[in-house]
Amino acid sequence: MVVQSIRFRITLLYTIILTLTLLGFSLVVYQNFSRSLRGNLDGLLKSKAQGVADSIEAYWEAEALDESGNAVKAASPSKVGNINFLKIARRWIEEESDDPALIGVIVQVFRADGGLIAASKDVPQVAALSRAELQAAGLGRRRFYNLEASRTGTEPLPLRLFLMPVLERDRVTYIVQVGGSLSPLRTTLNQLKALLFLVLPLTVILTGLAGLLLVRMTLKPVDKMVGALHEIESDRLGLRLPLPRTDDEIRRLAETFNDLLARLEKDFLSQQQFSQDLSHELRTPLTILKGDLEVTLKKLRSPQEYEAVLKSSLEEINTINGILDQLLMLARWENREIPLRLSVFDLRSLTEQVLSHIRVLAERKQIRLSLQAPAVLPFSGDDAQLRTVLVNLLDNGIKYSASGGTIDIRLMDDDEAVGVVISDQGLGITEEKLPHIFDRFYRVEDSRTSSGFGLGLSIVKSIVEAHRGMIEVESRPGQGTVFRLTFPRSGPR
Ligand code: ADP
Repeated sequence: MVVQSIRFRITLLYTIILTLTLLGFSLVVYQNFSRSLRGNLDGLLKSKAQGVADSIEAYWEAEALDESGNAVKAASPSKVGNINFLKIARRWIEEESDDPALIGVIVQVFRADGGLIAASKDVPQVAALSRAELQAAGLGRRRFYNLEASRTGTEPLPLRLFLMPVLERDRVTYIVQVGGSLSPLRTTLNQLKALLFLVLPLTVILTGLAGLLLVRMTLKPVDKMVGALHEIESDRLGLRLPLPRTDDEIRRLAETFNDLLARLEKDFLSQQQFSQDLSHELRTPLTILKGDLEVTLKKLRSPQEYEAVLKSSLEEINTINGILDQLLMLARWENREIPLRLSVFDLRSLTEQVLSHIRVLAERKQIRLSLQAPAVLPFSGDDAQLRTVLVNLLDNGIKYSASGGTIDIRLMDDDEAVGVVISDQGLGITEEKLPHIFDRFYRVEDSRTSSGFGLGLSIVKSIVEAHRGMIEVESRPGQGTVFRLTFPRSGPR
């Protein structure tokens, strides 16, 4: 389903994150902008109020001097309740409120008891000072507040007002009220709001679409891979995924798939080879058996003849049994069904026991067996399996040697590893055949006549690997073969 596709989920998640981020960002921008605009207006009103108060003060000083002469200059009379001061304040407003610095600003001057002394022109109908405002001003507190001023015939005017009491010897002389319209500020903020809320969904839609496209482009190689994987069936295991030219996760995924396919192909082919080899191996003794029995049954035979046929049949059955036994063992090794029975034993004495059993075979071909080893060599592993390894390698050494010569067995020991080296002076193996000798049922052509089934070295390798060891082989045709086994000192774990 589309909703469950990675493409849809990534795009959805990405769009949600983007929307939230943009919303947060817009909110922060809007609030900061609004705060700074209001701060500016408040700052302006404050400085205007201070300017008005300073200017009235300057008028008063000048007028007071004119009326009282030089003698009063030192101790000018109080402005509180002074009729002259009220006149002066009124005059100042009438003369100065046209000052360009005061355009767009409303100025009103009140007495301490709230009575209006003077107001600049075009002052809308601003309500008289409320009791709370008067009280606060009486205590000398300055304050800002908002007000909807009603004007006849037009919309109410939103105002920001600043009330500043002017004190003389801790008593309120008069109160300056300065106000400015909030309309431009509100218009600017509304425009910003509209812009942000238009840009936000547009950005989300556009980047969402771009994201969808990007995800589709990114996942295209995966789609291709799925297509290619559909093509691969058991009879086309040789097919491989095309590798993208990039050096990224998708390429690594394709490479990993290809490795897996290569391993599967190898296993599959070896399985096929194995079945072919097995039927081939079993066919020979069974054909001989069948032929012998059919010929014998054609007429009545003497007891001696029957005995001979039964004997040869038994031999063939033993061969089949041998193959099946070894195969079973190998299969169990490969499926790790045989647990190692671990113990610490002396590898030297185990090797000596094996040598004493095999010596009879060696002597038949006048082959000398020589052992070089430390007096005691503790080894951690499965002694019965190690015996199988030694028997197989030594048996091969004897089987594939002409009469005479020596098989050298060297056991070595250091801090990290235990080494076993078995070298013979036999037939040797050619270079191109050497890599195959550990394969199941593999036998070098010339040795087909020998008694083995080509399973011995496969079993040896499985046992050595179960012990976390390594087996290597070197050989020179006509000169001999060396098998080198290395086991970690720490044992199979
Ligand atoms: P087999 O039971 O036939 O001996 P192995 O798996 O033990 O099977 O060995 C596989 C093949 O490797 C043998 O058929 C033989 O040709 C070759 N081979 C093994 N050991 C030696 C050796 N010591 N010298 C020469 N050839 C050897």
